[in-house]
Amino acid sequence: MILVLFGAPGVGKGTQAAILAEKLGVAHLSTGDAFRAAIKNQTEVGMVAKEYVDSGKLVPDDVVARIVEEAMGGEQFATGCILDGFPRTRAQADALDGLLSAKGLSISKVINLEVDDETIIGRLLQRGRADDQEDIIRNRLNVYNAETAPLLEYYTGKGLLTSVNGIGEVDEVNQRVLAILS
Ligand code: ADP
Repeated sequence: MILVLFGAPGVGKGTQAAILAEKLGVAHLSTGDAFRAAIKNQTEVGMVAKEYVDSGKLVPDDVVARIVEEAMGGEQFATGCILDGFPRTRAQADALDGLLSAKGLSISKVINLEVDDETIIGRLLQRGRADDQEDIIRNRLNVYNAETAPLLEYYTGKGLLTSVNGIGEVDEVNQRVLAILS
């Protein structure tokens, strides 16, 4: 199963992806986590990604492709995975289709977690990661609306998208997602 968790920053993709990966026994790929690890380890990709991540901009598609290809080459991705934070642009969606079709796989479902902007800002300010300062959060939300949200229409057109209310307890949201998958 290839599941894409979709939604604005702070909707809870990472939290839900981790729970689902555990419950379903599949791999979890968070491009945000992958970039933070690369930055910490000062890899070549990390050095390029740093200024984008720090300012809340999208890392260029070719750099994203490198980190995703590397991650998805791993054994644990052979049969399926949960993607969190990828794809975020149409070019990334096309790259994903290419990667998957080369393995004889395709996206099973795209789950769109929905949370209003003010709730998102409140959650992220509380989380307090380095890029969770109000001006950077607002920038990430603008980038989401401009560059990532158009994918909603793309995946709706493919019949893959289901929206889920992301407001509520973590468990409650998780039950909503699981209900869609069963
Ligand atoms: P959030 O969803 O809260 O913004 P992430 O950990 O998913 O947090 O992403 C953090 C940052 O990593 C983004 O603001 C962006 O700079 C970079 N990033 C993550 N995934 C992608 C991607 N698919 N394309 C471009 N940049 C990405």
